[in-house]
Amino acid sequence: MELLAAGHKVHRFEGGEPYMPTPDAIKAAMTRALERNQTRYAPSSGIPELRHAVLEKVRRRNRIPADDESAIVVSGGMHGLFAAFSTLLDPGDEVLTFSPYWTPVVDVITWNGGTPILVPTERARAKGISATLARLVTPRTKVLYWNSPVNPTGEVFTRREVEEVCAFVAGSGLAVVSDEAYEDLIYEGEGHVSPASLPGMYERTLSVFTLSKSYSMTGWRAGYVIAPERYQSAMRTAVLYSINGVSTPTQWAALEALSLDPAFLEEWKAGYRQRRDQLAAGLRAAGFEVEVPRAALYLFPKIPAALGTDSRAAAALLLDTARVATVPGLVFGPEGEGHLRFSFSVPEETIAAGVEALGSGLHLPL
Ligand code: PMP
Repeated sequence: MELLAAGHKVHRFEGGEPYMPTPDAIKAAMTRALERNQTRYAPSSGIPELRHAVLEKVRRRNRIPADDESAIVVSGGMHGLFAAFSTLLDPGDEVLTFSPYWTPVVDVITWNGGTPILVPTERARAKGISATLARLVTPRTKVLYWNSPVNPTGEVFTRREVEEVCAFVAGSGLAVVSDEAYEDLIYEGEGHVSPASLPGMYERTLSVFTLSKSYSMTGWRAGYVIAPERYQSAMRTAVLYSINGVSTPTQWAALEALSLDPAFLEEWKAGYRQRRDQLAAGLRAAGFEVEVPRAALYLFPKIPAALGTDSRAAAALLLDTARVATVPGLVFGPEGEGHLRFSFSVPEETIAAGVEALGSGLHLPL
């Protein structure tokens, strides 16, 4: 920000949102809502039309056996997670959290009195996920936070892995907070699996969804949680006393988003895939070792050996020498150290210019 303010050009890869504008039909729906004076209080858990569309979507697309009262409209994924953890946690409760993780989640857990217990994802996958979870679970463990596709790595857990984790969770009497922010941004291979769709899991899962990434609506602040009966009252109370409901015109726009023909997403995904591959090729040419992820918006390469392993130092060096802005991997947990996060959801010109700046600024031995 200081460099930008001083008039420097910065190649920005540190963001985390779709690069395209919100679809016109969604914007028009909000305009229509305003023209119709749909500007008064809505029921705090959401307008019936939107709650109904949400139910239809999660039953059909996520195969969640959602009951009629389960849909609760929230102000984006962050708010859904906040309400979910405030519903589930008592002081001292432990939350199993795969690492690397989306940075704020450990703070949301801590704010609500919980203690995140980190599960190193790569090691767990190598040594057996349930064996690793069994080593970390204690009598104080109450919840497992699940995020797939994963921010920051772009990895997607396989159906078998989801089944293994869910079997462990059910066997240990835990609840799940399932963060499905990137469910629509999977580019290849097996599709998205919602834990609540597996047998016996609906009753113990709060499934948190957001419109931010799927519909390029990060600034609108709209999402929804699917809560089974035992958590509905607490979740509704959490929403009521935190925000008293999402803005009414925004909810009409969200209804339009859920009603869109999903064909537009295929076009968007082609754009992301192309940018992902362009950035991966460019980073490789600049000396990075890149594994191409099959989902989300990020590359999470190892820092080239010539730059050391300290991700904060490496991010600072890239910014100083090449004017390339990234996120140091350490902010995603100790398992993120040694990596940098680059968003590929940026204009193609940014990728071309950023990669060129890295090539000429860093002079890495290839
Ligand atoms: N979960 C994950 C994994 C995310 O990456 C994000 C946004 N970066 C969110 C939740 C929250 O998104 P929002 O509050 O915009 O819906």
